Amino acid sequence: MTHTSTLELMTEARSTAHSDALFAEAQTLMPGGVSSPVRAFRGVGGTPRFIARGEGAYLIDVDGNRYVDYVLSWGPLVLGHAHPDVIGAIVKQASLGTTFGAPTELESALARTITHIMPSVEMVRFVSSGTEATMSAVRLARAVTGRTKVVKFAGCYHGHADAFLVQAGSGVATLGLPDSPGVSASVVADTLTAPFNDANAVEALCALGDVAAVLVEPVAGNMGLVLPEPGFLQALRDICTRTGALLIFDEVMTGFRVALGGAQALYNITPDLTCLGKVIGGGLPAAAYGGKREYMMRIAPAGSVYQAGTLSGNPLAMVAGMETLRALLAPGAFEQMSTMAAAVTDSLKQHAAHAGVPIVTSAVGSMWGFFFAPETVRDYAQAKAVVNTKKFGTFFHEMLNEGVYLAPSAFESGFVSMLHNDETLLATDRAIGNAMERLRQNHR
Ligand SMILES: *Cc1c(COP(=O)(O)O)cnc(C)c1O
Repeated sequence: MTHTSTLELMTEARSTAHSDALFAEAQTLMPGGVSSPVRAFRGVGGTPRFIARGEGAYLIDVDGNRYVDYVLSWGPLVLGHAHPDVIGAIVKQASLGTTFGAPTELESALARTITHIMPSVEMVRFVSSGTEATMSAVRLARAVTGRTKVVKFAGCYHGHADAFLVQAGSGVATLGLPDSPGVSASVVADTLTAPFNDANAVEALCALGDVAAVLVEPVAGNMGLVLPEPGFLQALRDICTRTGALLIFDEVMTGFRVALGGAQALYNITPDLTCLGKVIGGGLPAAAYGGKREYMMRIAPAGSVYQAGTLSGNPLAMVAGMETLRALLAPGAFEQMSTMAAAVTDSLKQHAAHAGVPIVTSAVGSMWGFFFAPETVRDYAQAKAVVNTKKFGTFFHEMLNEGVYLAPSAFESGFVSMLHNDETLLATDRAIGNAMERLRQNHR
């Protein structure tokens, strides 16, 4: 089935019979049928596709449909699916054993590579998820400063630890949930919230005293893609330095994505602590936090701040992460992805203009995003105000039916891998053209 003209809009829907049946059963076994909320398609309606396999830049579902994948497991897969170097390393390591609960040289190899790419990270502690990384980094900040409060930003997502489920992005935003039940008021009392891009609000919160850390996604990717305005991150750095709070960059999503060295390299800001995840596990569960040596030396057993993990520094995840970073460091690799991300947003702008659909887009490194809005979105309040779920749902499903897999939520970012190329771009551009035409017809 090919679509050569925007007039061929009455495309036959692809079959989802197998996904439908599997989803019906999954919903009887797991809450919402999923292991993580946004996967359930609640933000767009319809049945989530059950995935049979991945192949480079493509996903293939259980009904045999093939999609250009811009979700990439929500960020980790910069090399695309089943990259031969990553799989080779995993298989080789698996045959030697999958976990030892004892040190391996693989951890030092990955730690060395990370500290080399991200100089502010002088020492690393590996954990298994981004949630653990942010939780532990804040524990360390409290220990270092002897203070209790943490400033976060509305619409930023830092995993699902109690303290961060206040005006959180990602699935919390997608589902329009209030702050989560089950989180005790006393925990939340220590979390202060400021609007993204509002340094004055942070200044005011820090002036109240007792702020241990300012925790930020330096490029916000969990309320749609929202860029820091010029001077915002530097202002946070200055406020922290002046008031003695630690500046924590949550680069779980942006690390090795907005630039090889993350947002801290792109905007030339040195945070005190950095949280990493997603890319550093190369598609296996690995995450980390790190930063100034004097702070990291406070972590047990070097110091007294306790934090541990049975599978932390898992050998399979270490080699997958290592191969992934190795490939990313190849000359031209990063630039290729940046070009592709920018090309996708160019295509969105072009077709939206043609169809008379208001849109703002952004692309930074291998991340990209868009809002159906007339002007640039700078914070969560604005993102919530401009997102029209029905309109996004129409666009999402049209793209899906055209063979392009986007995040099933307007409050997420798009990603590209090193395997996105002219072929995937052409298919994407054609899909965008048809989807925009559909929007023009449905939402005049
Ligand atoms: C994904 C994400 C997390 C949480 O990571 P998990 O591995 O899902 O626990 C934390 N912070 C940011 C910025 C993220 O994008």
